[in-house]
Amino acid sequence: MTGHLAVVGLGPGDRRQLTPEADEALARAEALYGYGPYLDRVPARPGQHRHASDNREERSRAAAALDQAASGARVAVVSGGDPGVFAMAAAMCGEIESGPDSWRAVDLAIIPGITAMLAVAARIGAPLGHDFCALSLSDNLKPWPLVERRLDAAAAGGFVIALYNPVSHARPWQFGRAIERLRRQLPQSTPVVFGRAVGRPDERVSVTTLGAADATPVDMATLVIVGSRETRIIARPGRAPLVYTPRAVAEVSA
Ligand code: SAH
Repeated sequence: MTGHLAVVGLGPGDRRQLTPEADEALARAEALYGYGPYLDRVPARPGQHRHASDNREERSRAAAALDQAASGARVAVVSGGDPGVFAMAAAMCGEIESGPDSWRAVDLAIIPGITAMLAVAARIGAPLGHDFCALSLSDNLKPWPLVERRLDAAAAGGFVIALYNPVSHARPWQFGRAIERLRRQLPQSTPVVFGRAVGRPDERVSVTTLGAADATPVDMATLVIVGSRETRIIARPGRAPLVYTPRAVAEVSA
């Protein structure tokens, strides 16, 4: 007997940014698995069981959800934002790859969500309007020297860079080091956007420059977008500035 497993993206926080497809998958599930604060965003439905776990328990959560789906249940695993961006969908695939054959027989659906960098970008203009990349600054799952190499390559390649996981309690220095690294290659005037808890009541979005970026507080709920040499800030009277990266690049800059 094979059940069904949906890995569902909840979007950044505002319920209006949850897709109808995700809403439907949540409503149809008999059991929900996920990090506690994400599960709290899903309205309670009668008869539906919830299995909240800690953020660091991705593997055991994936295994428990796969076991239950393999035994015939309809299960949903939730992720903030998009489940494929530094989140549960890849963890789930990793477990399926190394787990028992019964897990490969499970009917798996990955339901996309609005990822944090898109929600932050939309609040401030169009910083991702030209070529960009996304990097997680967490060195829990990769060595820090690899993070530095990728930051260097992204800056040298002229990409706008979205930085996920800038800091955590266990990783207090990584963001400062990343900014220091980027300053070696990019002008101090490069626009930097900070989006905190976008779509939630405590949302805060601000703009500064690379030269001043380490003066802005960041936490685990913050996504940082570092512009490229083309990214511009447009001041507006009585309104927040617009940050955008033009659609066209005329020539290769130094
Ligand atoms: N799957 C998620 C990302 C998980 S990694 C997604 O697609 O958005 C967790 C990181 O995402 C956080 O450290 C932060 O950098 C970013 N993030 C998640 N939700 C956010 C929000 N509402 N506002 C700003 N950044 C957010």
